[in-house]
Amino acid sequence: MQLLREHPRSGEYRNFIDGRFVDLQENSLDVANPATLEVIARVPESGARVVDEAVQAAKKAQPAWEKLPAIERARHLRTIAAKVRENAEALARLITLEQGKILPLALVEVNFTADYIDYMAEWARRIEGEVLTSDRAGESIFLLRKPIGVTAGILPWNFPFFLIARKLAPALVTGNTIVIKPSEETPLNAFAFAELVAETDLPAGVFNLVGGTGAKTGAELAGHKDVGLVSFTGSVETGKKIMQTAASNLTRINLELGGKAPAIVLADANLDLAAKAIYDSRVINTGQVCNCAERVYVHSSVAGPFLDRITRLMRETRYGDPLAEQDLHMGPLINRAGLDKVSAAVEGARAAGGEVVTGGKQATGRRGYHYEPTVVVNCRADMEIMRKEVFGPVLPIQTVSSLEEAVELSNDSDYGLTSSIFTNDLNSAMRACRDLRFGETYVNREHFEAMQGFHAGRRKSGIGGADGKHGLYEYTETHAIYLQHG
Ligand code: NAD
Repeated sequence: MQLLREHPRSGEYRNFIDGRFVDLQENSLDVANPATLEVIARVPESGARVVDEAVQAAKKAQPAWEKLPAIERARHLRTIAAKVRENAEALARLITLEQGKILPLALVEVNFTADYIDYMAEWARRIEGEVLTSDRAGESIFLLRKPIGVTAGILPWNFPFFLIARKLAPALVTGNTIVIKPSEETPLNAFAFAELVAETDLPAGVFNLVGGTGAKTGAELAGHKDVGLVSFTGSVETGKKIMQTAASNLTRINLELGGKAPAIVLADANLDLAAKAIYDSRVINTGQVCNCAERVYVHSSVAGPFLDRITRLMRETRYGDPLAEQDLHMGPLINRAGLDKVSAAVEGARAAGGEVVTGGKQATGRRGYHYEPTVVVNCRADMEIMRKEVFGPVLPIQTVSSLEEAVELSNDSDYGLTSSIFTNDLNSAMRACRDLRFGETYVNREHFEAMQGFHAGRRKSGIGGADGKHGLYEYTETHAIYLQHG
């Protein structure tokens, strides 16, 4: 706790390997505040030797960790969750400082993380195998569910603290150990997490943390022969690279990748509800969420009143430096590359015939990576803004004449993570749920998943999934036992 109060530190951060903070790094990297562009800390960039130290520590610790009763492993997780709650305010400030989300959202992220760890701990008494009937007399067949061994969690920057738990909690409760590599954009919250873990009695080597870039540290981890599962959340481009790297050892992968979520608004929708839910899904975390509404298909008969509502909400959005200003809806984008990507998406849409109704440029008079909340109409299926992930506070809108057209346009995408439909007609809702080819569909509500659900993308949005029972079992493998007896 004392240590957490000192974040961000003036000195350098150290990796957490085998239960200790160690000085093994070769290089270090700057971490900046995206709202002010100030460099706030330096963190290690770990190379092959350091990654190997971390993996070997996890490998050494795993057999004893697996042998502990699951309920004991759950006790360790609950202790970590309690530490997170005790330090929620300080952790939230740190997340806001390095990532730029507004403080109330950072606090939600921290508390949700603690709840998620507790939720996964509850599975300790529910990890189940199967007993099968045999074709042979006097034989029993058991399917045991066992841990994979050493797992690796490679994280993005958008919900950096929660993503630690999304990898670590299911891995640990099922008897795996883990090496986490946070995003180089937002590593400080992960180092703070390691300090909280160091204050608990978690056995050394069960959780390890290595800082660094993706090209160096991430690639070393994904390609390490002693890693049994690489659980990755990030972009499609990096997901492909990880798949290639992991292929050298035929290592299992779990990929949670990008999205281009469609939101369908039908003629009979409650337009106030639809506009607010789509708006909330677009400005939360400054539009940098994998499951955010990224494109809207609105029925032509209600396009006018829907546009009035969503444009008003976008215009009323307050944004700025979340540590210096109060009552904001959103902060800055994460970095220069993110800002350039959003700007290019809007400029591309303009050039292709899209009309910017509000916003449409980088916010002036501010130091950070701020982009104006933007609505673009007259969009068509062939425009890049309707096909590529924007990851910013920009809402492109296309009008449609039927549910069937909206569903067809929605499905015609490389991405297949989340989708939503707004309608008061049960038959339309059920037809959409039947025909939309996505991992998740939200009916008459904002895009946001529950920890007991299953968050999994179709097509290029990923392989495998997270959360709930099915997410838990991604961290296990099956061992079939054939027992011949008298
Ligand atoms: P990113 O792919 O740039 O980076 C993610 C992580 O991968 C970072 O830790 C990075 O250092 C590492 N990395 C980069 N190159 C690597 C390599 N060659 N080998 C190994 N590791 C490497 O993604 P990002 O910009 O941090 O995150 C934004 C993306 O994440 C968006 O596309 C978003 O949709 C997606 N995302 C998906 C989910 C989901 O659940 N599906 C959740 C959050 C974010």
